[in-house]
Amino acid sequence: MNWISTRGNSPAISFIDALFAGTAPDGGLYMPERLDPLPRETVDRLRGADIVEIGTTVGSHILRDEITREALQPLIRDALDFPVPLVPVTERVSVLELFHGPTMAFKDVGARVQARLLHHFTDGTPLTILVATSGDTGSAVAQAFHRVPDSRVVVLYPEGQVSDVQEAQMASLGDNITALAVRGTFDDCQRLVKQAFADDSLRTHVWLTPANSINLGRLLPQVFYYFVLAGLASTAKRLIVSVPSGNFGNLTAGLIAKRIGLSVTQFVAATNVNDAVPEYLKTGRYEPRPSIATVANAMDVGAPSNFERVQALYNSDLAALRHDIVGFAYEDAQVIEEIGRVYQQHGYVLDPHSAIAWLALKDRLAADPEASGVLLATAHPAKFREVVEPAIGRSVELPRPLADALSRPRQSVSMPADYTALERFLRATPTSSSELPIRTA
Ligand SMILES: *Cc1c(COP(=O)(O)O)cnc(C)c1O
Repeated sequence: MNWISTRGNSPAISFIDALFAGTAPDGGLYMPERLDPLPRETVDRLRGADIVEIGTTVGSHILRDEITREALQPLIRDALDFPVPLVPVTERVSVLELFHGPTMAFKDVGARVQARLLHHFTDGTPLTILVATSGDTGSAVAQAFHRVPDSRVVVLYPEGQVSDVQEAQMASLGDNITALAVRGTFDDCQRLVKQAFADDSLRTHVWLTPANSINLGRLLPQVFYYFVLAGLASTAKRLIVSVPSGNFGNLTAGLIAKRIGLSVTQFVAATNVNDAVPEYLKTGRYEPRPSIATVANAMDVGAPSNFERVQALYNSDLAALRHDIVGFAYEDAQVIEEIGRVYQQHGYVLDPHSAIAWLALKDRLAADPEASGVLLATAHPAKFREVVEPAIGRSVELPRPLADALSRPRQSVSMPADYTALERFLRATPTSSSELPIRTA
């Protein structure tokens, strides 16, 4: 199967090429050329299966021309070594908890599978994953590639401008992970990374690979966990799934899951005040804007990059989109109040991102008394203690992975916001990319 650009003006390419690519030459994003449904019996068999079985089955269906089930299974087992539980909270509402990975946020799922796919499809040529971060993505990518053979991660973050936990998660790993504390802003970090990717001379010495959220290797694994809902989808009269959204990768994956056979009645695109997509669904006008800072900061995205994939899945047919997705947006005060209310009424502690999905699900279910609902919880509440603790009036215990990261010594390298410094650093351990031995089966 080929992989094609959402903009339709780039040549179709193989999965392996798409896996190592960022955006397509026409500026679009890669998508599978076809999405064939899973056989009905296969979906039925996934009811009650664990995430490794689900990931292996769904992954080897989507990637059936690229990797065998036997080769994929150990890779998924290694990547998804944490549970993805579906927790009932009320009679009608359950929470799919995606935050039990090492950085306690759902990006672990995509990043950990991507790391192992990249390793599978290379043949011993050292890869350098270069990433600029304002906090969360860098920690998920660093954790994901930690000790994956033949890979190193170089993560650039603005010195003194990430949270304590985030810095600990990037700078305390050691081994094949280097954290560069750039004396500048996040924009400086992004500029330096862009310069490196544009530096052809550097790239003949170092095989640079991006690990941003638009990469297919991160998107596809997110389809897996939707099939944890296979049992519920088969028994519920109608199933509504609410997704806390920023760049819309998570929701795109849900739409792919529906397309290949998961019976979801409708998705809810839940956002903070960065509401370009809910507004589009309401008015038909898409107006991306600069982002606004909120308490759910991983969703502070004014111009969601994966919206282009959503549009491609529906051929930009607004009526069809509205049939499958409804959007709701919330302000910080509503989010904080709801975290407190849900804790009082149900004893369940939501982080700010998940609370937005909860609010939106509640609003959607109010119009449909017979439907059941699931919300995707994307971060552990302890990651956002400064918001959650005042909202619920008690402290939130720091879970083991976060406490462990905080207690380990840190070893980040301080660097000026200057490209020559980065280039020198990257060249210090040169690897050739002139003959990239890519394994094809
Ligand atoms: C990244 C992130 C989101 C948004 O996911 P998208 O795929 O970008 O829509 C939501 N919640 C948390 C905690 C995140 O880290």
